[in-house]
Amino acid sequence: MEKIYLDHAATTPVDNEVLQKMLPYFTETYGNADSPHSVGRKTMNAVDDARDCIASLLHAKPSEIYFTSGGTEADNWALIGGAYAQKAHKKGHVIVSSIEHHAVLAAAEKLEKEGFSVSYLPVNAGGMVELNTLKAALRADTGIVAVMAANNEIGVKQPIKALAAAAHENGSLFFTDSVQFAPYLPIDVKDWDVDMLSISSHKFYGPKGCGVLYIKSGVKVEKYVQGGEQERGLRGGTTNVPCVVGMAAAYDKSVKEGAEANAKLLALRTLFLAELRGVDGVHINGDLDNALPSVLNLRFDGVNNVDFLYNMDLKGICVSAGSACSSASIKPSHVLTAMGLTESEVRSSVRFSFGKNNTEEEVLAAARETKEILLRLRNM
Ligand code: PLP
Repeated sequence: MEKIYLDHAATTPVDNEVLQKMLPYFTETYGNADSPHSVGRKTMNAVDDARDCIASLLHAKPSEIYFTSGGTEADNWALIGGAYAQKAHKKGHVIVSSIEHHAVLAAAEKLEKEGFSVSYLPVNAGGMVELNTLKAALRADTGIVAVMAANNEIGVKQPIKALAAAAHENGSLFFTDSVQFAPYLPIDVKDWDVDMLSISSHKFYGPKGCGVLYIKSGVKVEKYVQGGEQERGLRGGTTNVPCVVGMAAAYDKSVKEGAEANAKLLALRTLFLAELRGVDGVHINGDLDNALPSVLNLRFDGVNNVDFLYNMDLKGICVSAGSACSSASIKPSHVLTAMGLTESEVRSSVRFSFGKNNTEEEVLAAARETKEILLRLRNM
């Protein structure tokens, strides 16, 4: 049975052109990028090219790009490394939005256990952090603020430029997790004026286990991964050259495909919703007009999302109840809860996330199967 994969917010397959660019770096150009000999230098050239490419796509300087093992490490580093550096200036208060990915929330919890004071920003019913909410939460001792650019469960985008400006007016650092935003929309770190920003390769058809933390020149962040002097002394560990090369190629391709790919995704999402029109008890979670084109979070009255996912999986259709990290434990989504949904509403919500390789036929088939499963589960 051919699978229908509608879980691109969890991960994407590696693009074949990207894979071809990575392959020589496993066996031919295999040197340690930090070795001083010719084999190492050749590898370092590839790492430098990848850094230049990603810097130019983000409108950053190459010296502001730090390679990490993925979005989780970049998020941990930004929040923990940023908070530690700010503590030295007697700024022990941290603000994070309540809908951040667990990579940020768990880092905030760690800081809290260590004595930092942490505030969790509420969101409105559409899933957005309002500017006034941040302004009211800022304190004289706020060291760092973290608000994601787009949410992984509902796709809703946040007003990053305005939030960053408010944090700066208060003398606080501003970090944005752009792991979900980057695959779909252009980023200009100068325009947003953020201090730190994270992206992750496997969300834009690059390899897993590879990400970037952008750190603006002059911003002090403590080293997080201890080890050698890689990444200008700030992140220990031998550079994962094939992945770094693949990430740069994938990000370049995804930015170039940008508008055209987004138009296709929007059309697929519209088609899917049109097919469900007329079905009772189907609701959209989050403000779709202000969301990424790829994500659709739906609530099905009277249907448990675990039963729904199981039935879809039996039909070879892969969707999710929210973030991949929490769906194994099937914990109710903290994002939907923060938006004010009841526990039973949260437990009847499902995330569909479309990708550039999905076809209209697949999307129509998934929508028809959705209708059938809803009918069957509701009649049970
Ligand atoms: N931040 C967001 C918003 C994400 O969606 C994810 C992954 O789902 C991450 C961070 C973690 O990235 P990675 O899987 O590269 O560790």
